[in-house]
Amino acid sequence: MRFIHQNLPEEANYAALEIKRVYDLPLTLEAHTLEHIFRPVPAFKGVSYQCNFQKLWHRDLERMIILTSHDLFADNKSQEDDWIFGSCWMNMYLASTARLKGRDNKPREKREVSPEHYLKRVTALILHELGHDLIDNPAYEQAVWINAQTGYQLPLGPHCTNPSCLMWECVDIRTPPQEEGWMELGGKPVTGTGIDDVLERVSENWLCSQCSSCIKKDSSWKQ
Ligand SMILES: [Zn+2]
Ligand SMILES: [Zn+2]
Repeated sequence: MRFIHQNLPEEANYAALEIKRVYDLPLTLEAHTLEHIFRPVPAFKGVSYQCNFQKLWHRDLERMIILTSHDLFADNKSQEDDWIFGSCWMNMYLASTARLKGRDNKPREKREVSPEHYLKRVTALILHELGHDLIDNPAYEQAVWINAQTGYQLPLGPHCTNPSCLMWECVDIRTPPQEEGWMELGGKPVTGTGIDDVLERVSENWLCSQCSSCIKKDSSWKQ
């Protein structure tokens, strides 16, 4: 599988080692400008996750990891709610470094946390997005982000209910304050929904035992 990065070799090399260890996937790393595949969301100074990834395909339905420094948005209605760290969409695993560099979720050019911690955040994000297609755990529940001020809801898809598992969903760097909003899992509000919260809890295997036993790789993953 191709792992295409926007001139982020350090991040890509670090993440690739863990992807091989956890999922045993054959990876080819490629640096790319990626500029022609993204659709800008000018009002938010970001890009839509629904990019023209077909322009990168060597063959139809090719799976690929794309690591970008662009800030990603799932919609263009609310700047504070519609940003995302990454997505799993149409055989493509997209991850953004934009909001992983500081102590809060604001997009930054410059890294403010230690290099090791930043690389762990990037790796956790990519492993999580791949997990959405590689792990078929029937016990997953739907996650939803709810804005406390406006009631706006952003559906986040099925996720693991074990807070010490990498497939637990993250909506921020740290759990946001209640007055800002919260995540619901299976219709119930939950806390501990920051990437750093999960990094403090996960084992070195990243996944809970149930998710580990539900990894499903058909032949399309072996290319
Ligand atoms: Zn997820
Ligand atoms: Zn799990």
